[in-house]
Amino acid sequence: MDEHDAEDDDCAFCLGREAAHQGASESANPYVREDVEVGSIEWYETDFALWELGHGLGTKEPGGVPWYAQKGVGSAE
Ligand SMILES: [Zn+2]
Repeated sequence: MDEHDAEDDDCAFCLGREAAHQGASESANPYVREDVEVGSIEWYETDFALWELGHGLGTKEPGGVPWYAQKGVGSAE
């Protein structure tokens, strides 16, 4: 697999990560779930799985939602 930098392309992994940062739920996965065994090598080659992986990472990253996407920045006590 390729390494993924913070500012990458628009591959499924990065899109999922970005979606998580924007507060999207896991059900927002835009890709079709393919009929392959979950967790298999084939599974991790599908865009659906890549998006899900990216989303999972995005939800766990410190900061989560970027500052410019948060509401009320600087106004909260
Ligand atoms: Zn990427």
